[in-house]
Amino acid sequence: MFAKILLTIVAVAIVWFGFKYLQRVTELRERRDARAPAGDKPRFEPVADGESVQDLEKCSICNTFRSPKLGPCGRVNCPY
Ligand SMILES: [Zn+2]
Repeated sequence: MFAKILLTIVAVAIVWFGFKYLQRVTELRERRDARAPAGDKPRFEPVADGESVQDLEKCSICNTFRSPKLGPCGRVNCPY
């Protein structure tokens, strides 16, 4: 009888500490990932001449924003 109770307590303790251990490992992994630098992720770096950054203008006919350098959107009466 006593052995059964002891075995139950040991089993619960194993599950409990195993769960805590897994939680701790996950927490440390998330913290490490959050601290990691951008690394090889693609980054936008504007060119100094300003060509890669353009102001968009709203087309009054089609209600979309386009760079004026792209020319007309193809609709009739497009102002560009
Ligand atoms: Zn247009």
